[in-house]
Formats: sequence, structure tokens, C-alpha cells
Amino acid sequence: MARPADIGDLLYEGKAKRIHATSREGVVAIEFKDAATAFNARRRAELQGKGRLNCLIAAHLFEALEQAGIPTHYLGLLNDNWMAARAVEIIPIEVVIRNRAAGSICKQLPIAPATLIEPPLLDLYYKDDALDDPLLSDARLTMLGIVSEVQRHAIECLARRVNDRLRQTFARARLDLVDFKIELGLTPQGQLVVADEISPDSCRLWKLDPDSDANDRILDKDRFRRNLGNVIKAYGEVLKRVQELGLHPTPYR
Ligand code: UDP
Repeated sequence: MARPADIGDLLYEGKAKRIHATSREGVVAIEFKDAATAFNARRRAELQGKGRLNCLIAAHLFEALEQAGIPTHYLGLLNDNWMAARAVEIIPIEVVIRNRAAGSICKQLPIAPATLIEPPLLDLYYKDDALDDPLLSDARLTMLGIVSEVQRHAIECLARRVNDRLRQTFARARLDLVDFKIELGLTPQGQLVVADEISPDSCRLWKLDPDSDANDRILDKDRFRRNLGNVIKAYGEVLKRVQELGLHPTPYR
């Protein structure tokens, strides 16, 4: 997709996105790349069309959060691959919420895949690729001093609100939100907002259709992690389903 007008310097390049400056104070442009990575980038591929799908899916989900009064960095779409967002300082904590057991928790604890977790489990990880994003304990988080107790409480409350809203939204799209990761940021005014992306790269999503088999139900990055094939087809199905919800991402002008 063509680069939108008015894009400035590259500020940061991550595994799946590039963040650029814009001519507007406090506004950045996020470009979603086709690169796919898993296992801390030990597996890599180019999946044509993934950037567009994740950008559009994330825009719909940020709209759903904003409609519920949940603050995010999202400002609107620049085009199908590019999103405008408020410039924020990312807090180096990955917040994971698990509604069902899958992935790492099933390797680390005696819990069978797909077990419903009630109340949902909230896990915090220290965001650092060089350290493989280690799981944080309360004591380790306090020792690191990245956030205050009050901020930590605010982060957890916000993440649980995000989970409630996303679960409802996906349920309307006949999708089960198994787990997801979000990142939070602080605006220059000190407001805590949901940042980064929410997409099948960062969520586990299973079709709620009762007759499909376990692997066919997977519509997220596990298709890439586990070499199940049809990654782009699955992400396309997620986009199709969220597009049917009438959320209408706003073009950013
Ligand atoms: N996740 C993510 N980025 C990470 C780690 C996890 O987006 O660096 C997401 C992942 O896609 C899943 C949830 O967070 O939806 C929980 O991931 P888990 O701890 O099971 O790790 P995994 O086994 O997927 O590496």
C-alpha cells in the first residue's frame, strides 16, 4: 500500500510495525508490515497481505474499545496499511489475559489446553526480547520499579476492561477470545492508554462454529507458530467477521 502523504522520519522499527513521525505534534503514523515472526523472531516469514489485515482488524478493535470509553492511542486510519496514533511512551510490560488455557501456560503448569479460566488470569511480562520477555512476579515488578503500585492497579483494571469489551465484540463475531497480549502507553499528559496493536498476531481466536475440528477453529498466529498453513486466509476471516459488526474505522484527516 502506498505511503500516505505527510509522513516524516522513521522513529522506531519493530518486528511487525514501523513508527513514523508526522507533521502534527503528538501524532505518529504506524505502518503495519507483512513480516511474520514467532518464537522471539527465531521463525520469520513474509506473508503478503498480513500488514493490511492486521491494520484493519486493529482499527476495528480500537473503535470497539473507544466506543466503550476505554482510552487508546488510536486516532484513525491513514489507509489500509497505516494508522494514525497518539505518540505515547510505551510501558515495558506486556499484559496478557487468559480466558482459556493455551500456549505457554500449558507448558508451564498442569492445565489442559482449552480449560476455561474463571476469573481470567492476568500475567505480566517484562518486555525485553534479549531476555525473552520473562514472566514478572509482584516482587520482581516492585524491585524493578518501572511502575508505582497505583499505576500497576490502573494497568490491571484497564486490561480487564479491555478483556470484557473484546470478549463481547469477538463473541458477536462468533469468535472465542482465548487469550491476548496488550501494551500500554502514557501520553505526554500522563494518561494511561492501550497502545501497540490488537490483532490475530497478539490474540488467540477460535471459531465458535461447533462443527469445525480443533485445528480448523484456529484463526490466529498459532497457524504460523504451529505450521498449520492458511495464515492469511484465517486473518482474512477474522477481518470479515469484525467488519460485519458495523464498527466503521474512522479515516484520519
Ligand atoms: N503474545 C504476544 N506477544 C508476545 C507473547 C505473547 O502477542 O511476545 C500473545 C500470544 O499471541 C497469545 C498471548 O499473548 O495470544 C499469550 O501468549 P503465551 O504466553 O501463551 O505465549 P506463546 O506460547 O504464544 O509464546
